[in-house]
Amino acid sequence: KRAPFVIANWKLNGGIDLTCTSVASMLNKQFEVKIGIAPPYVYIGDMVSFLRNSNIMVGSQNVSKFASGAYTGETSAQMLTEVGCQFCLIGHSERRQVFLENDHSCHTKLEKALANNLMPILCIGENLQQYELGLTNDILYRQLHQALPGLDLNGKELCIAYEPVWAIGTGKAASTEQVEAVHSFIYQELVEILGVEKANRVHVLYGGSVSKNNVAELLSTPHVNGVLVGGASLDPEHFSEICTIA
Ligand code: 13P
Repeated sequence: KRAPFVIANWKLNGGIDLTCTSVASMLNKQFEVKIGIAPPYVYIGDMVSFLRNSNIMVGSQNVSKFASGAYTGETSAQMLTEVGCQFCLIGHSERRQVFLENDHSCHTKLEKALANNLMPILCIGENLQQYELGLTNDILYRQLHQALPGLDLNGKELCIAYEPVWAIGTGKAASTEQVEAVHSFIYQELVEILGVEKANRVHVLYGGSVSKNNVAELLSTPHVNGVLVGGASLDPEHFSEICTIA
């Protein structure tokens, strides 16, 4: 079995203090999983230099769909690679809801990330209303089939994160039955879009109220190759416990 990914998404939280305490709590330990941390942009440079002698990846929470130009407030994939980022989140549900990102912009961002050797983590997932209406697979189908076809994945890594919006920040993770059903659906669609060989290389993560209490069960679920951790990653001790258990 491949080493699972444990990725922290700090969202709009933390500061230089959390950057230092997180690094301190990770550096003196040995983990068997592949760890990544996505702090707010402005702490990426510090985090990269603090983690230089570790194999912990630093990433960003977003990336521009543009390469350069008059786009105030944007950060390009090339810039992120240049400062030492190894991965970026794309299409997180908060970006889709609050900043009106869509499947089309996700596709463009995926192209930019891949072209600049930044491993994209495409986030997908249904909201509560869609879940209650039984539309989960329809939503995921659309999100995958509009974002992924046509990408050049030769020699590149790709992750998908399934994050049911109703499980984010609620303390109520999806049940293992739901996660298993959804992840096998996602795998099946990846095979259809990318072919078996490439689909088998994609890491499919689960996100939404992951904690030290449920990470072992989630990671033992078929087709779950890692987790994306929000709230629990803001407590360095908790996050390092999650990485140890995983
Ligand atoms: P929580 O772990 O706080 O539910 O957040 C999940 C998430 O959105 C990670 O990207």
